[in-house]
Amino acid sequence: MNYIGRFAPSPSGLLHFGSLTAAIASYLDAKHHQGKWLIRIEDIDPPREMPGASEAILKQLENFALLPDEAPVYQSHRLQVYQQQIDNWLKSGNAYPCNCTRKRLKTLKHIYNGACKNAQLPTEGNAIRFCNTTSKVDFNDRIIGHVSLKRDHAEQDFIIKRKDGLIAYQLAVVLDDIAQNITHIVRGADLLDTTIWQQALYKALNAKYSPQYAHLPLAYAADGRKLSKQNGAKAISAEQNKQLTFHALQHLQQSPPDKLANWDVKAQLQWAIEHWDLTKIAR
Ligand code: GLU
Repeated sequence: MNYIGRFAPSPSGLLHFGSLTAAIASYLDAKHHQGKWLIRIEDIDPPREMPGASEAILKQLENFALLPDEAPVYQSHRLQVYQQQIDNWLKSGNAYPCNCTRKRLKTLKHIYNGACKNAQLPTEGNAIRFCNTTSKVDFNDRIIGHVSLKRDHAEQDFIIKRKDGLIAYQLAVVLDDIAQNITHIVRGADLLDTTIWQQALYKALNAKYSPQYAHLPLAYAADGRKLSKQNGAKAISAEQNKQLTFHALQHLQQSPPDKLANWDVKAQLQWAIEHWDLTKIAR
């Protein structure tokens, strides 16, 4: 099987050191395996989108010599595909509308109990949940090893379309990874918990295979908070591309020799492709 990997940023803000690290790791893992590396812009949440971020992210990646092997795919161009799948599942009884409020979910400690399953609610104005019949709670991660999640979390009927009409990330990401024949996913560990739901979708969609996962340790700011767009992590800049690429290789525990810090980003990446060792990344 030929390796196809991807980096899938959401344009809710510019790339920061944490997302740069995920981009570099997914790129290096693909290139080390003589694979293809794709970029997918996950722009399905317009209210959270920062105007101009999609183009700016592509430019940022270019400034770090992270060039995809094919033209980027935009999720906003694929809304019909996602909706079609939801309609099919609504018809076949594999999905159902849900009108549970946030307040109600809070009383359930955010483990959904299937309350709306037989309520025959209208699809308009309600969220849509996937009838999750999986009994799988664990999987193997290339970095973390054996991952086992709580059964009630893994087995719950999760949302595939939001009440506000927007498609949920879980559904879009799986339909796209299947459509693009993605074989390996390298991304931040913040997505570890919902990987099990994504695997349930692969199964329901009769996908030929489900990808291999590698979840990266998250990057933290000096104050101990996770680097994220939500807490205002600083955008990476082209002027610091050498330094930040070097730091990313250090964060990924690839032991780059000091001399690399002065090399241009292309040469640093070339060194890192040759020396890439995923097993060095701490669990
Ligand atoms: N779009 C998601 C994010 O930016 C990542 C999706 C993924 O890698 O599966 O957090």
